[in-house]
Amino acid sequence: MAIKRKPHMKGKVKPGDVSNRVGVEQIAARGVNVKRLIDKLIDAAGAEFTTYYYYTLLRMHLAGHEDYKEICEDARLEDRSHFELITPRIYELGGGLPRDIRDFADRASCADAYLPQKPTGAKILEILLEAERCAIRTWSEICDLTLGKDPRTYDMASRILQEEIEHEAWFIELLSKERDGVIRPSGHFRRGDPGQAPYSKNRSFYNP
Ligand code: ZN
Ligand code: FE
Repeated sequence: MAIKRKPHMKGKVKPGDVSNRVGVEQIAARGVNVKRLIDKLIDAAGAEFTTYYYYTLLRMHLAGHEDYKEICEDARLEDRSHFELITPRIYELGGGLPRDIRDFADRASCADAYLPQKPTGAKILEILLEAERCAIRTWSEICDLTLGKDPRTYDMASRILQEEIEHEAWFIELLSKERDGVIRPSGHFRRGDPGQAPYSKNRSFYNP
């Protein structure tokens, strides 16, 4: 009996070929510039990784603002989870992290979130706020590049974006009160655990 032809059995990638990926072929066919996307993802991963580092430092200098410290800790750990969520995707697409961490830090899509010379609560909150805003711009751009073309990267980018938008709201609330004495509620409830990352962290995978 003749074997029935299945519509998805064959494509450009030859059977047994391990140097090409159907997962890449399919998104390229739908209009993704894969090389450009990989570059953007590495830049974005660099920003998450360096932000995780700089937030560690910023948090250390919030003594006496224990409530700010806790929010900073949430944002810090969630940025680490963003780095961990997106890194495997870079490899799946055929890319990889730079071999030298200096190259990685230099190409981050956001400026270094340096500890101010004379750190005050308000100054630190301003830096945290602007870092979140840069992250929102970065992940919005990646959502634009992948919407309707690369469902997997889009799903990851949009989950990260949701948390970055929350982070902006947290720091607007805190900075507004600390610097200007104005109440601008973030509208959010407390995370269950610090760095819970409700959108970007797959709980069963990272926290079995
Ligand atoms: Zn982040
Ligand atoms: Fe963030």
